[in-house]
This record gives sequence, structure tokens and C-alpha cells, in this order.
Amino acid sequence: MSAKHFKVAALAGDGIGPEVMLQAIKVLRGAEKKFDFKLEITEAPVGWAGIDFAKKALPDITLAVCKRSDAILFGSVGLPDRDPTIPKEERPERAALLRIRKEFGLFANLRPVRLSKALAHACPLAKERQGEGIDILVVRELTGGMYFGQPKTTEDLGAGQRRAIDTMVYTTAEIERIAHVAFKAAQLRRKKVTSIDKANVLENGVLWREVVTRVGQQYADVALEHMFVDNGAMQLMLRPTQFDVMLCENMFGDILSDEAAALGGSLGMLPSASLGATSGECTFGFYEPAGGTAPDIAGKNLANPIAQILSSALMLRHSFGLNEAAAAIESAVGHVIDTGYRTGDIFSASEPNARKVGTREMGEAIAAAI
Ligand code: NAD
Repeated sequence: MSAKHFKVAALAGDGIGPEVMLQAIKVLRGAEKKFDFKLEITEAPVGWAGIDFAKKALPDITLAVCKRSDAILFGSVGLPDRDPTIPKEERPERAALLRIRKEFGLFANLRPVRLSKALAHACPLAKERQGEGIDILVVRELTGGMYFGQPKTTEDLGAGQRRAIDTMVYTTAEIERIAHVAFKAAQLRRKKVTSIDKANVLENGVLWREVVTRVGQQYADVALEHMFVDNGAMQLMLRPTQFDVMLCENMFGDILSDEAAALGGSLGMLPSASLGATSGECTFGFYEPAGGTAPDIAGKNLANPIAQILSSALMLRHSFGLNEAAAAIESAVGHVIDTGYRTGDIFSASEPNARKVGTREMGEAIAAAI
């Protein structure tokens, strides 16, 4: 049988983007040799690299490459010393990132947070709260809720008073769609979904809970529990090991995914996926590290490439269904961390076996460990 073939747009962007992307592609090529798939990877400029190339943060040629691809592997964009020199709507984060989200209807955001025992020192929680390690996937709805509901306005009431209005809106279909993503992801993990809502106060919460419960009945192998968002925020700090998949609406997910991210030890370790429509055997997805362009360390071989490498593993799993290859990349990362390889952001002189390495060495070690 011939190898499965997929098209990937690789948009490295600015700052540390190009150096961490290089390592992710190296690791993907390593996985290709071992597993039965072939990637056609096309690189294209975005962010300031796009502006310098074609005067646009998302050049037409880059958008065209994305449209002919099955997934986008993204670095990061924006440079704090250059961003203020152009109008807000032309700046890379808005003109490239938001445009891509809209263009490709990305409605689900997945943020896995993993903390192995080897990196216990990098986590702000006491060791006894970390158990055998933290492994949480936050699934956040990305296109509905309070951030997009209408009306959204500020009214002038006179006499120096104004009134701001945001509206929280969800339809059954929107909740069903994101709930399926969460249950399917849980089937590939420890088979538990904790659905977050505020059903004691919000109409949206009542509908959310009803619909998630109904969708959950289609996944007999996955356990479902419901939790109020305030309790969810507290439980993340008290007993994070109880969570497998946390399913959240847009605003709650925005807040809880950052809270969970703090448990992961470093921005340099955190991948993310944003998913759009499924057609045939592919789900269109956008994969990027949680951090930004880190201009303070860019071009110095200091950046941690793991967030980018783990983003590429998410791409194999969620866009292409290559679960074994994705797991192999994740285990290779785990192995290299257990062996003591550390970039500066996760290095501690108190670890006896720690070996400080650069971006390149870390990428090469992971590629070799597959
Ligand atoms: P940042 O995430 O770039 O950096 C914050 C801190 O984390 C820095 O000290 C940085 O060195 C460190 N860090 C981040 N990624 C790292 C990695 N892989 N390895 C080691 N250390 C890492 O955030 P910032 O400084 O607020 O923003 C810098 C630029 O990035 C800004 O222009 C911002 O707009 C942009 N940004 C882009 C995205 C994106 O493209 N999705 C996201 C956030 C910020």
C-alpha cells in the first residue's frame, strides 16, 4: 500500500519562529522515515517576514499555500520594536493570525499541558500536588460566546456615564460541535471529560450542560463530569491530576487554558491546535506554540523547540489521524527530557543530571529518539 500523503504549509514567522520551525521539520522528517506517511511541506513568509517580502503580514502567496494545504504549522509573529510603527489592523498578530482563524473557520482550540516528573522543579505547584505528573487537555470553543455575541457596544448615557454591553450566545449546534471534539480527544487519552460551565447562574450554562450531557451519551467509553468554572479554576491549583480533558466555552477556556499552562513549567513546552472542518480523512488544523516570538532570545540558539515540535505531533494526530507517529514524537520528547536535556528555560542547576543544550541540539536529540 502506498504511504499516506498530506500537504503542510509551514509558516515560521518572526523572532524564534524560524529556528524552532527548523527543528520541528527535522523531527517530522524523522517520523516520516519510521511511519507510513509522506508530508509535502511548503514554507511561506508570514508576520514581519511577510511584510518585508510583500508588504503584508499575510501575503497573498502565503494564503494561497495555506488554502492548498491540509494543515498549517505556524511559528509565531510580531516584533515589539516594529509593531508600533504600523497601524493596528496591519500588525502581524491581527492581520495574519486573526485573518487565518476567520478564513479557515477554526472553531476548536486544543491546549495540552503536560508536566513530567523530571520537570517538577519548573512547576509553580508543590511537588505533592503534582502526583505522578500533570497531563491535561483544555478544549476551548473558539468562535462563539461572549467574545463574538451581539449586541456588543458601549452606549453614552450622558452626565459622564457610559454603559458597556457584551452578549453571551451559544446555539445547540455550536455546543454539539465542540463537545464531539472533546469526547473524541478523550477517547485517545484517559477517557474522561470535565465539562466547565456556570449553569447555576447563566442560561448559557444550562444549555451547555444539557447539550454536552446528550452528546456524551454517544460516547459510552468516556466518563463525563460537570464542574462550575469557579471550582474548576480552584481545582486546577489544588488537584490538577484529576483532569483529563477540560471542555470549555470560549471565555472560560481562554482563562482556564492560561491557568493550566502555568503548570507546564515553560511557555517553550506548550503546543496548541486550532481545528476547522473535516473533509475525507483530514481535519483542517492550525498548529502553533503557545508562546510568542521571544525577541530577547531570538537567533541565539537558546529557544526551546519543544512547543513547536509537540505542535507538529498534534498536527499528525488531529489533522491526519497518524496517532502512532504523534505518540512516537511525544515519547521522544519525554525520553530526551528524562535523559536530562534542558534548554535554558527549563534548566535548573540543582538537577544533578541536567545538561544545558541549545535549540539545535534539543531538536536533533528528539529526532534521533524517535
Ligand atoms: P513571548 O512569548 O514571545 O515571550 C515571553 C517570555 O517567554 C520571554 O522571556 C521569552 O524568551 C520566553 N519564551 C517564549 N517562548 C520561548 C521558547 N520557545 N523557549 C524559551 N523561552 C521562551 O511573549 P512577549 O515577549 O510578550 O511577545 C513577543 C512578541 O511575540 C510580541 O510582538 C507579541 O505580539 C508576539 N506574540 C505572538 C504570538 C503568536 O504569534 N501567536 C503569541 C504571543 C505573542
